[in-house]
Amino acid sequence: MQDNAITNDCTFCANKAAGRETIIYEDDKVWVARPQDMKQHKERIVVVSQMHAKELTDEMKTYACQKGLEIARLAYSRFPEIEKIAIMEDSKSRFPNHWHCIISDIDPAAPDYKQIIEETEYTEFYVNKK
Ligand SMILES: [Zn+2]
Repeated sequence: MQDNAITNDCTFCANKAAGRETIIYEDDKVWVARPQDMKQHKERIVVVSQMHAKELTDEMKTYACQKGLEIARLAYSRFPEIEKIAIMEDSKSRFPNHWHCIISDIDPAAPDYKQIIEETEYTEFYVNKK
């Protein structure tokens, strides 16, 4: 591979180049992917900045979150029983080189429920509402 040094050092870029990430949407600003660990959720989405940056401008962040939510609403429409999803910035993760956020339903039966409720700043959105 003729990847540059940054790419070789970045697990996410290396995985993506090797086809190990499940990318469901991509444009010039963001990737939207399904995480490798779904943590027993029916659906779970990660929005990853194309740029190598831990922080984004507010404008870019808004774009990334809106794009993620748009795709999440579609993805969650397959699970009409789910009414609420949460979007959260993820600090402890396997993509240290890219800003990213996670979109997930809040399921009391899922192993990350306590972590979301007690340790994470998140914003809730309704899905599947008529
Ligand atoms: Zn990268």
